Amino acid sequence: MLRTGMIRQLAAGIYSYLPLGYRSLRKVEEIVREEMNRAGAIELHMPVLHPIELWEQTNRVGAMGEVLLRLAGPEGDWRSQTVLGPTHEEVITEMARAYLGSYKQLPINLYQIQVKFRGEARPKSGVLRTREFLMKDAYSFHDTVESLDDGYKKMYDAYCRIFSRCGLPYVAVEAESGPIGGDASHEFMVLTDAGEDFVALTDNGDYAANTERAVCAPLPQQNEEMAAIEEVHTPNQRTIDEVTAFLKTTPDRMIKTLIYEGAAAASESKKGKPPADPVIFVVLVRGDHEVNENKLNRVAKAKLELATPVIIQKLTGADVGFAGPHTLDKSGVPYRLIVDQAVSVMRNAASGANKTDHHATGINPGRDFALTGETVVVADVRNVADGDLSSKGSGSPIRLRKAIEVGHVFKLGTKYSTAMKATYLDKNGKAQPHIMGCYGIGLTRTLAAALESHHDEGGAIWPLSIAPFEAIIIALDPRDEDVMKVANTMHDDLTAAGVDVLFDDRDERAGFKFKDADLIGIPLRIVIGKRALAEGVVEFSQRKAPKDVEKISPAAAAAKVKECVKTAK
Ligand code: ATP
Ligand code: MG
Repeated sequence: MLRTGMIRQLAAGIYSYLPLGYRSLRKVEEIVREEMNRAGAIELHMPVLHPIELWEQTNRVGAMGEVLLRLAGPEGDWRSQTVLGPTHEEVITEMARAYLGSYKQLPINLYQIQVKFRGEARPKSGVLRTREFLMKDAYSFHDTVESLDDGYKKMYDAYCRIFSRCGLPYVAVEAESGPIGGDASHEFMVLTDAGEDFVALTDNGDYAANTERAVCAPLPQQNEEMAAIEEVHTPNQRTIDEVTAFLKTTPDRMIKTLIYEGAAAASESKKGKPPADPVIFVVLVRGDHEVNENKLNRVAKAKLELATPVIIQKLTGADVGFAGPHTLDKSGVPYRLIVDQAVSVMRNAASGANKTDHHATGINPGRDFALTGETVVVADVRNVADGDLSSKGSGSPIRLRKAIEVGHVFKLGTKYSTAMKATYLDKNGKAQPHIMGCYGIGLTRTLAAALESHHDEGGAIWPLSIAPFEAIIIALDPRDEDVMKVANTMHDDLTAAGVDVLFDDRDERAGFKFKDADLIGIPLRIVIGKRALAEGVVEFSQRKAPKDVEKISPAAAAAKVKECVKTAK
């Protein structure tokens, strides 16, 4: 985008949209607007400046952390009480509280196309992740869960149309809701190596989920005969790689023993009461697997954080790096055990021995540590891995693919309406919190994702729908009267027909002009040169298939352009 002169960076994560880039952005915006209107949503415009008080009402000042940008000012001054909106749930809910007082006004879906501000720690990849960006955000209000389901489906379908029209190869995947909160959500992902997210996909496409969310299918019980536990002296061998090499085993035969503290235990305690002691959680995953913190927190019903070395030493009686599941009870320190399902079916595994510089082999779940009981849970707490079988659909193998998130739809439920006391009167005259959904699309990110999926070494290959110009006329001999006459006529004719045409009449070499046309990626190209014109023809080609050049009359070329533009709409 920088090379094509679409954008210019002003500072980290802050960009200007130059005329060419702005044209494309406007086209994305128009597609989004059309589809939102078609789905029955109504456009409005909310402020960028929000009183921080609104964010305090929903408890999100802390949850958003550094992402929430604040104005600086002396204490008590309005500036110190003002933030830059990273999203608009609070502002819209304030409006619903004021205006949507009756079930008769529901459902309703309100949206805006508005600049958002987020204190992203690491802005990167051009306009894929910036600190200031354009978002379409929509919010729906309902009086029943069925109505929310219906509204959510309408938005989901609208998003499919939007991303198809923008020419994006996307998949909709099950996702985590994150700090926005809520009950269900889907992300719209564009598969490309430029992405930061991973999605789990089956080859036949019958299962698709964000890896933060993807469910691991249970693994079958291993059947090896149980061996006895043996302690092995493993001086200074702490990491999985070191230990597997030392013990001549493989990571999938090891148990990783991770020790966490339940940080939420303290904050959840009622005001006035002293905070409860943090609860220790011992989490077991296979050596080749990674803990999924979202799943883990859900199973633990608390927000877990890795325990400090002091706690680990107290529990295991050993230095950090030698924890194992089998002799933990010896220390008498109470803990809860969370066993990943893939560990529960292992036989003769290796792990730490709860003794500095020692590991143990022949550890058998169920025999050497409990898989049942009040303080034990066996659950899915790991990230899905490449090659795992899918838990739904055909059960075929899952592949992990890099992707860019371009849109996100959430069922929020009553999280915001309850926090902000936004209620309506139901049929019986009883006050009920609004049931809400929210739906976001990053417009600037969509533009970048489109380019990530459509380019070659020469530059952009814009889909017609969001190209800055649909067609380019290149006059090869701008000093030739005949050439200019035909070119001008064609330009006026196409413009009158509603085609966005760029006319390159610069007095430059042909090769130079072709390179530029390729770089900015205009989909349809007509080249008018003196020699060809003497034979009554011009050249028509498409950016996506540059070798298929047709030599046809100027009228036929213009007709071709109109035809292509019409079929794309
Ligand atoms: P991410 O996980 O990539 O940070 P998010 O989950 O924070 O995204 P949402 O809060 O759901 O994103 O915002 C809705 C949409 O806004 C996203 O789907 C994405 O297209 C866009 N978006 C979010 N953050 C940024 C950003 N920093 N720069 C550009 N676009 C963004
Ligand atoms: Mg984010």
